[in-house]
Amino acid sequence: MINANNPNLKSWIDVPKLSDFPIQNIPFGIALISNKKVAVTRIGDTVINLSKLYLLGAFHGILSENYFDKEFLNDFLKLKKSDWRSVRNKISEIFTNNININKYTSSFCEINEVQMCMPVKVGDYTDFYSSRQHAYNVGCMFRDPENALLPNWLHIPVGYHGRSSSIILSGTDIYRPKGQQLPLNAKAPVFGPCKLLDFELEMAFITGEGKPLGDSISIDEAEDYIFGMVIFNDWSARDIQKWEYVPLGPFLAKNFASSISAWIVTLDALEPFRCKGELQKPEVLPYLKFTGDKNIDINLEVQIQSDNFSAYTVSKSNYKYMYWNMNQQLAHHTVNGCDIHAGDMMASGTISGNDNSAYGSMLELSWKGTKPILMPDGSERKFINDGDTVIMKAHCSKANVRIGFGEVRTKVLSSK
Ligand code: CA
Repeated sequence: MINANNPNLKSWIDVPKLSDFPIQNIPFGIALISNKKVAVTRIGDTVINLSKLYLLGAFHGILSENYFDKEFLNDFLKLKKSDWRSVRNKISEIFTNNININKYTSSFCEINEVQMCMPVKVGDYTDFYSSRQHAYNVGCMFRDPENALLPNWLHIPVGYHGRSSSIILSGTDIYRPKGQQLPLNAKAPVFGPCKLLDFELEMAFITGEGKPLGDSISIDEAEDYIFGMVIFNDWSARDIQKWEYVPLGPFLAKNFASSISAWIVTLDALEPFRCKGELQKPEVLPYLKFTGDKNIDINLEVQIQSDNFSAYTVSKSNYKYMYWNMNQQLAHHTVNGCDIHAGDMMASGTISGNDNSAYGSMLELSWKGTKPILMPDGSERKFINDGDTVIMKAHCSKANVRIGFGEVRTKVLSSK
């Protein structure tokens, strides 16, 4: 067992009941503290300045320089998995053993006193399409149930290269995108604000430094190159998407914004929540074959909030519903020699469960707008309105340990 994952550990820092951030989590983020961006972790509602911890000698013998006195975590991510693990174990040790209380408290801030920032400078961003139920639902709507899954889907973790410049942090408002749409039965497109604005409930993993161009990361090596995960809302303009996506896939329908949660929860912290995925049939090609349980049981929730009603849950899904796991995604991504780098972000694709309360997009929840969802104020939603805030939450829970991601929260403003 990884030392920091021991469910019996108890921190001397107060952790509120049902907090996403007990001593067993130790996530990584970037915060603005005294007008300076530094790397931080969090226990309960206490934010710990890791740069200060370094200067106090906490990582002596583990880190050769202060990788935490940086605007992004990328340089820390260039280290090896064994280094990430040693740092997390050390933090766990310091805040479990109360011999050091006075030595380290000068690195503390309250969560309400700091502004969280983008944790990494995202180099490249890839979006997969790895939930079978989601691919099936979309296939049913746009083709037919018999041909819902395209012939490649059960053989390839399908994905596309997205845009990293518009990946934004939770709390950043977005403007409704504008673009071309082809109205029903029209022969020519029109231009205007998107009418069918949607969220996509996803998780994303963030990579360490990969191998040189031309080399591949095997499925057994994949976990050594995955630092951790965040919640990922892949905003989507369905009407723009429908008109533009043939033949090269999504473009302006997706690249206006994707929102992430602020805390990267390490893959190490998620290890106790591993579970089996769906049996893959037909058998996958050898480079995609894996051993052990590679899915993760992460409870997911989507809420909509507006001026007229408080946060209202519209979906409850789970990351364990993924057909293709992260190891397969990364092995596939690099099998052709594609190089990946520290701070790359790879999103799962919309995660939908088997029943309609677990669908990960409004497209599916309202079944293309044919089944509007009733909100607490009596209004209906087929898609997302101006003024709505979409909130996504994620947490794992087992044997009295709850490891959470916090939330990703985004308000939609009318078009600019
Ligand atoms: Ca997506």
